[in-house]
Amino acid sequence: MTHSSRAIRIQAYGGPEQLELVHTEVGEPGPGEIRIRHHAVGLNYIDVYQRTGLYGNPLPLALGMEGAGVVEAVGEGVSHLQVGDRAAYASQPPGSYCERRVMPAKCVCKLPDAISFDEGAAMMLKGLTTQYLLRQTQPQGGLKAGDFILFHAAAGGVGLIACQWAKAMGLQMIGTAGSDDKCALARELGASHTINYRSEDFVARVKAITGGQGVKAVYDSVGADTFMKSLDCLQPFGLLATYGNASGKVPPLDIGVLAAKGSLYVTRPTLFTHIATRERTQAMADDLFAMVTSGQVKIRIDQRYKLEDVAQAHRDLEARKTTGCTILTV
Ligand code: NDP
Repeated sequence: MTHSSRAIRIQAYGGPEQLELVHTEVGEPGPGEIRIRHHAVGLNYIDVYQRTGLYGNPLPLALGMEGAGVVEAVGEGVSHLQVGDRAAYASQPPGSYCERRVMPAKCVCKLPDAISFDEGAAMMLKGLTTQYLLRQTQPQGGLKAGDFILFHAAAGGVGLIACQWAKAMGLQMIGTAGSDDKCALARELGASHTINYRSEDFVARVKAITGGQGVKAVYDSVGADTFMKSLDCLQPFGLLATYGNASGKVPPLDIGVLAAKGSLYVTRPTLFTHIATRERTQAMADDLFAMVTSGQVKIRIDQRYKLEDVAQAHRDLEARKTTGCTILTV
């Protein structure tokens, strides 16, 4: 038996105009899989990289890495989910821009009753990313209360979760953002200092804020525009986690630069290594759910679009018009 589903696909890489609404038939889950009926789907900047071909996914391509809904059917060998469960996920392969899908169960987690479908859809990829960045991607000796970190794009989806999470950890987070309004929002949500990196020299400001010392860690998702300057914001032995490319891919690095700038560390992490097993995924999700249900992290959904309006959602995200999280309603 099959079930109909509206879904978004691309046949070729390119701009938002490549996103097309199609009608598909979804079957029964196989071993290790579930079928989920989405209530909402999360929009992420990685969806833009996949649409433009930056990550080279095979075509035709169903987009979307995040969603929340109700489990409709469970395949053989899946024991952590049952039909009727409320659930949410961040997962590979892409394909969450749809009403229902069959997908691997290992990345899907039961959603606590206190968290809405919209919040679940908005927060899994961005919240699990913040979890592994702030808790698991730390400089030598770890991060302690009072330490300075620099977090770029602090008013975005990942960024506003990070502002709150860093504050809960007692960190002094310097957040960058592309307008004064975005900077004010990041401060409201927990950044101790902000820098409008379109109008100010963020290296000089970081040096001034930290009394010339620099920060222990930089979390950089902007990529090409910020990478080298991010290195200049670090203390000796500091860590740069470069985890995104919103402004373009980071050019190849002459590794000797890391010695010259003070025995620095650079890592290029991805969420999908961190959530490769069911056990890791659940442990990270439990931490995220605790941060949200305790009220320490609020999931701000600042934009909502219908599934069929996904092209406009992509245009707004790429034009830097959005703040916080964006969801598609299905
Ligand atoms: P955001 O909501 O943060 O949107 C991206 C933001 O990047 C924009 O709002 C903008 O903020 C900033 N930006 C800076 N330069 C540019 C540019 N040239 N074009 C467009 N935007 C620019 O997106 P997400 O929360 O979905 O993701 C944040 C980042 O984290 C992305 O780069 C994403 O790829 C990365 N990521 C990486 C993961 C990993 O595991 N490696 C997992 C999840 C996300 P402003 O105007 O304030 O500069």
